[in-house]
Amino acid sequence: MPTPPVDRARLLRRLSELAQIGRSDSGGVTRPGFSPADREARHYMIREAENSGVPTAVDAAGNLWLGPRPHPGTTTLVLGSHLDTVIDAGPLDGVYGVVAALEAVENLAPLDLAHPVTAVAFANEEGALHPQPFWGSLAASGQLPAPAAVPTAYDGTLLRDALTWAGGDLDAVQQARLDPDQLLAYLELHIEQGPVLEQESIPIGIVEAIVGRVQLDVDVMGAAGHAGTTPMPGRADALAAAAEIVLAVEGLPADGWCQVATVGRLEASPNSPNTIVGLVRLTVDVRDTDEAQLHGVADEAVRRIETIAQRRTVKVSCTRAAASRPVLTNTGLRRSIAAAADRRAMPTLTLTSGAGHDAQMMAAVTPTAMIFVPSIGGVSHVPHEDTDPGDLVLGAQLLQDTALAIASHPGSLR
Ligand SMILES: [Zn+2]
Repeated sequence: MPTPPVDRARLLRRLSELAQIGRSDSGGVTRPGFSPADREARHYMIREAENSGVPTAVDAAGNLWLGPRPHPGTTTLVLGSHLDTVIDAGPLDGVYGVVAALEAVENLAPLDLAHPVTAVAFANEEGALHPQPFWGSLAASGQLPAPAAVPTAYDGTLLRDALTWAGGDLDAVQQARLDPDQLLAYLELHIEQGPVLEQESIPIGIVEAIVGRVQLDVDVMGAAGHAGTTPMPGRADALAAAAEIVLAVEGLPADGWCQVATVGRLEASPNSPNTIVGLVRLTVDVRDTDEAQLHGVADEAVRRIETIAQRRTVKVSCTRAAASRPVLTNTGLRRSIAAAADRRAMPTLTLTSGAGHDAQMMAAVTPTAMIFVPSIGGVSHVPHEDTDPGDLVLGAQLLQDTALAIASHPGSLR
């Protein structure tokens, strides 16, 4: 079947126009989910889709559908990502996958396919304003945790109101749940947000697994005291103990416990220049693609922390604050992506994703895969996040080619 070319000018124009929506003084993009800027970006996509004759709809969770919503009597191939950003973000994280998905829907629309192909922008993936990341894909995959009594954003906005403005309905949010029998597969195109593809000079990554993570909230309780008058022997310095903990956590991957481990937040109190620190609150983030390994490393982190605490005569408490399961992408879909790349002689590399994505949620209800393109300098969630335009077009073309192959010949994905 002939493969329509991606409209390079249209793809890049939409990306640069979207980068202006929520633009901050620093040159970054601030468009948290359900914010006024997010609503503007959603309206922009609706206008673009409708100008091309693509139908649009918003479900109860605020997910924006560009193309037919999955419906009974057929199985739909869903392409998507998210339009919302973190604070002071770059122009591509999430947005690129949505713009490329619409591009594929537009170009494949005239063809007579065995399965419908549609695009979705999942609502509030980042959770930068309304504190439930992956809101839309969790709702779509039927995994949304019970919400707070009155879910409220960091700026005081009620989720109920924000969702209504976006076209959703908090009371009906379970209606956003997709029926797995109506889904063929989910494909997500995304920037890598890491350095691997650039270092290897390979334009396309095929994601084999998305890491799972465990977060521990750790309180280190020592004894505050005068920095001048308290003798060194007998001190219970919570910050000195925390310093050892930071290094012990950093050492976990080198000892084979997990892929990455980070203490990303640390608060000392009273945090005064002439007082021994009495309390430190810190977070431990460990990630791996193997679920058993992930639980093992969380236990090992707690063992290390408790050993340090005992030796330094401070008390600790460790709480599991968050966890997500690692996800393996679908083998058949990965093969389809590789075959489509081969047909255009695009070099590919199989890699894992260290960041979470909507695909991780969708994998619970349908065969799922992801395509990555290189990130210049390996950076993301910063204003200078960027990808070579040629790579952006290549990735969009591969998404479209793969979608065409899958929607024409579904094969045996299940
Ligand atoms: Zn993203």
